[in-house]
Amino acid sequence: MDQSDVSGDIASILLTEEQLGAKLDELAAQIDKDYAGKDLLLVGVLKGAVMVMADLSRRLHTKAEMDWMAVSSYGSGTKSSGVVRILKDLDTDLTGRNVLIVEDIIDSGLTLSWLVANLRSRGPASVEIAAALRKPDAAKVDVDVRYVGFDIPNEFVVGYGLDYAERYRNLPFVATLAPHVYS
Ligand code: 5GP
Ligand code: MG
Ligand code: MG
Repeated sequence: MDQSDVSGDIASILLTEEQLGAKLDELAAQIDKDYAGKDLLLVGVLKGAVMVMADLSRRLHTKAEMDWMAVSSYGSGTKSSGVVRILKDLDTDLTGRNVLIVEDIIDSGLTLSWLVANLRSRGPASVEIAAALRKPDAAKVDVDVRYVGFDIPNEFVVGYGLDYAERYRNLPFVATLAPHVYS
């Protein structure tokens, strides 16, 4: 096979493009209901949230603005520590705004709980969270996620915005990687 083709790197597909799309239809309908008569500011967390932001926002009928943040969580190795640095802040003043944070995945939940506290300190009317995926460890942190796409097993996944060494974000599905990729 062509070495530049990613299909040989995929071990198994956890969620297909169709499954993701159908779930986002549901989430968007719920968000439209909940924010009826309100204006909405969608805050995407770079880079992982680009796919879910694009697909979720397109399904909304609610008037929505979009803004982006980039954060990095310090930590040893692959676990996040909860100590977060802002790499790119919002352009938008949050005073009185209804903020919906759009995330790819919640693992430990540490990054997100820091982010919620940070945004709440800026005087918004509300701050809620929508995440495409959630792992079991997220339950250990007290972060209330209003909209969740799928609860997935505690495995490292890529695709649909999620990377391994910056690759695989462009896959339209969520998958696990073949062992040879890591070696
Ligand atoms: P946490 O919730 O642990 O603070 O960190 C969440 C971030 O860790 C996510 O936004 C994502 O960037 C990364 N992450 C967590 N689990 C996975 C995973 O299974 N695959 C990938 N590619 N990134 C993950
Ligand atoms: Mg993320
Ligand atoms: Mg990453």
